[in-house]
Amino acid sequence: MKFISTRGNTKPVSFNQAVMMGLASDGGLLLPASIPIFSESEINELATLPYTELAFAIFTRFIGEDIPENDLRELIKSSYATFSTSLVAPLKEVDGLYIQELFHGPTLAFKDIALQFLGNLFEYLLKKEQRSLNIIGATSGDTGSAAIHGIRGKDNINIFILHPHGKVSRVQEKQMTSVLDDNVFNLAIDGNFDDGQRVVKEIFADLDFKQKYSLGAVNSINWARIMAQIVYYFSAYSQLSEAQRKDFSVVVPTGNFGNIMAGWIAKKMGLPIKKLVLATNANDILSRFINTGIYESAQVQPTLSPSMDIQLASNFERYLYFLADCNPQKLKKMMAVFSKSGKLTLDPELFARVKADFTATRIDDQATLETIKNTWEETGYILDPHTATGVCAANNLRQQSGNTAAIICLATAHPAKFPEAVKKAIGKFPPAPPAIAALDNLPCRSERIKADTNAVKAYMEKKLKQA
Ligand SMILES: *Cc1c(COP(=O)(O)O)cnc(C)c1O
Repeated sequence: MKFISTRGNTKPVSFNQAVMMGLASDGGLLLPASIPIFSESEINELATLPYTELAFAIFTRFIGEDIPENDLRELIKSSYATFSTSLVAPLKEVDGLYIQELFHGPTLAFKDIALQFLGNLFEYLLKKEQRSLNIIGATSGDTGSAAIHGIRGKDNINIFILHPHGKVSRVQEKQMTSVLDDNVFNLAIDGNFDDGQRVVKEIFADLDFKQKYSLGAVNSINWARIMAQIVYYFSAYSQLSEAQRKDFSVVVPTGNFGNIMAGWIAKKMGLPIKKLVLATNANDILSRFINTGIYESAQVQPTLSPSMDIQLASNFERYLYFLADCNPQKLKKMMAVFSKSGKLTLDPELFARVKADFTATRIDDQATLETIKNTWEETGYILDPHTATGVCAANNLRQQSGNTAAIICLATAHPAKFPEAVKKAIGKFPPAPPAIAALDNLPCRSERIKADTNAVKAYMEKKLKQA
């Protein structure tokens, strides 16, 4: 399979090149040149496989000959061996809904599903190409810790993660800074998340530095992350009864449009998802888009579901590309209109296509808290605030008359990752699983540093010279 850029100015590349490239060299996002399609009987065959074999069957359709079968099987096996259940993404029935728990990886958020695999894949490809890579990124919490746990202890790869000092949750900070492997560098910057992002952007803009130290990124635009996320949609299907498989929808708590993009591709591959339901918090650029056909950003506001506090969804260009009939010229026109005026209005024909693919709801903090409380009181099940936006959207959907479809709600984080929000809803902290309880006693390491590009560069140079 070849991979192409949404902007059309990059020569088609192989899967391995697409993974190492991350963002296409013309600034676009990479996509497979065509989407592989499974027939109905193939899909029911897939539904009999354990998670790792299911992943193998899906990945090979994108990877082709790029990675030998045995190597790929080994990569997948070691990526999901770190999960606390071999189901990887178990489906639980809670009050008539189907909650798919995506939080059984090392950092208890769904990002582990992609980043455990991406870390192993990077290590494998770097060894093959006899190269090294230095990952740098800024985080407001979840992505940084999942990336660190994906890369820790791997050969030929270092990771530098900037987090705003004192501004990430206690659990998130501990999850990052308690990783003491030699190839992990935590930088606690004096500033906020935006300062961290600015520093990282400026470092990437220094092309000499970027080249000299072979810098790379792990953000959600990497195709391998989307690919890894397609698998659990198929896994959810396999956990439904035969009757339910005929009529089901999936609700996705959304920020950067990565998770739901994977669901959209799964649907294109033939998985019979009736509707993809997008839930946002008060940062609602995407739910406004789906309900009005107008894409227009607003100020980011902090909420109880911080991993969804996003106004410009980095994966959205992939979906726009399909709306533009896979025509890079058309896509570039849309992007140009948006970047010039801050607003993109779809014509009625395109808007109708959006409405055929998705429905969307905006769930504010009040409704999020009520959902956590009601679900806990009625069932004893504790939702994290991100998952609760989805469950609230699902409850709204159920109330619509005539809706009898099975509803799968993706649970994107374990409640113990966001204990303060949970306490606000139910008056007590959620029980901490062993991985979180153990954090309290672990030694931590991080470097406090100014939010200054030169200071961070000097730190990296010093560390990389010592290595
Ligand atoms: C990252 C994240 C999201 C948002 O996922 P996207 O792929 O960015 O849409 C939702 N919930 C949690 C807990 C997350 O960490």
